[in-house]
Amino acid sequence: MNKKRLAVVGATGSIGRSALDICRRFPEAFEVRALAVRSNLKGLKALEGEFKPKFVVIYEEAAARDYVPLFDSTRVLKGKEGLKLLVQEDLDHIVFASSGTDAIPALMMALARKMEVSLANKESLVVGGPWVMETVDSFDQLRPIDSEHSAIWQCLLGERREDIEEIALTASGGPFLHATYEEMKNATPEIALKHPTWRMGAKITIDSATLFNKGLEIIEACYLFSMPLDRVKAVVQPDSLIHGCVRFCDGSSKLLLSKPDMRIPISFALSYPRRLRLDEAFHRPQITEWKVNFLKIDEEKFPCYGLARRALQMGNAYPPILVGADEAAVEAFLGGVISMVDIFPLLERTLLSYNGPSNLNSLEEAIALVDFGRREAGRLSRLFSE
Ligand code: NDP
Ligand code: MG
Repeated sequence: MNKKRLAVVGATGSIGRSALDICRRFPEAFEVRALAVRSNLKGLKALEGEFKPKFVVIYEEAAARDYVPLFDSTRVLKGKEGLKLLVQEDLDHIVFASSGTDAIPALMMALARKMEVSLANKESLVVGGPWVMETVDSFDQLRPIDSEHSAIWQCLLGERREDIEEIALTASGGPFLHATYEEMKNATPEIALKHPTWRMGAKITIDSATLFNKGLEIIEACYLFSMPLDRVKAVVQPDSLIHGCVRFCDGSSKLLLSKPDMRIPISFALSYPRRLRLDEAFHRPQITEWKVNFLKIDEEKFPCYGLARRALQMGNAYPPILVGADEAAVEAFLGGVISMVDIFPLLERTLLSYNGPSNLNSLEEAIALVDFGRREAGRLSRLFSE
């Protein structure tokens, strides 16, 4: 078997490191050719020493200036252009696991070149769903990494579109599943960052605590699986053992169960249509230990979830605004400027302050609205703190 020549964008992040752990475990299957980061040079250097990539990309040009690679054979690419140059290299597969929207142009180029892509970055689909999906041929080419979307993809393999009744994504419910409003209001970032079942980057951990993350995932699922919003739902499954369910027209449902470990969906995306033999540590608990209970999402307590759904209904201009607004809102919460329960009104007011067209014609316009949302929510967050 030829080794897959891989690039990992967001190599120093939570998903990037998990993807690299799969590569570390299966050196016969993967060659790590390129690593891309924003500015974490220390983290990059350690990974460079281990994987000896042909290319490293450092997005923040100021940080890239002083970077001396460990090996003469390693080429350093810089900035936005660096990411685009990377996509033109001899690679078989790119993992897009950076945070934010910076890598969207490189993703679009990779898809246009018909390269195999594994996608963790949520913002790409929430902001650019209509344009990303126009460029994609099939799941052979664009492979979702997020556990819920991977679960749905796996449940749909071999099925006919017209037989699908409903898709359901699961949510753990986060650290505030059983908390009161007062407890959420007084929650410090330290408490909100303690997710009960998943270990993730800070931004997505806060989004999981407010269930905004589940709203984003609903938007992603609508685009990825071409499903109308009223047939895509989310339910709480506190143990995070079931990641997604599909109900079919004959009354049967398929569910995907695994341990909550992102390396499992990542390994599937990297190796599809095969599966990699992951050792016992990855295996699910014994059948007799399963506690598979589902709860409804309490939308009054977690209004960010419904707001994201509404944004999709309002038109394709609104999800990008929410993405930018939420970046600013989470930053304001982590910086002690607003409380966790202020995130929802801040997002809602940002959406309402937009008076442009509801539907956009280009990805560039959508990306510009992320900036609008970020700026507007940043401005409004200062009013909240007064
Ligand atoms: P982290 O914050 O842990 O890591 C982000 C990574 O992206 C870092 O390596 C960072 O580099 C890199 N990065 C940021 N901007 C750029 C850029 N412009 N160019 C290159 N690299 C960049 O995030 P996560 O791993 O938690 O999440 C990454 C993405 O995956 C997000 O979109 C998230 O929503 C999604 N996701 C995450 C899941 C999880 O379990 N963590 C699950 C499903 C989806 P540096 O270290 O230099 O800053
Ligand atoms: Mg998820």
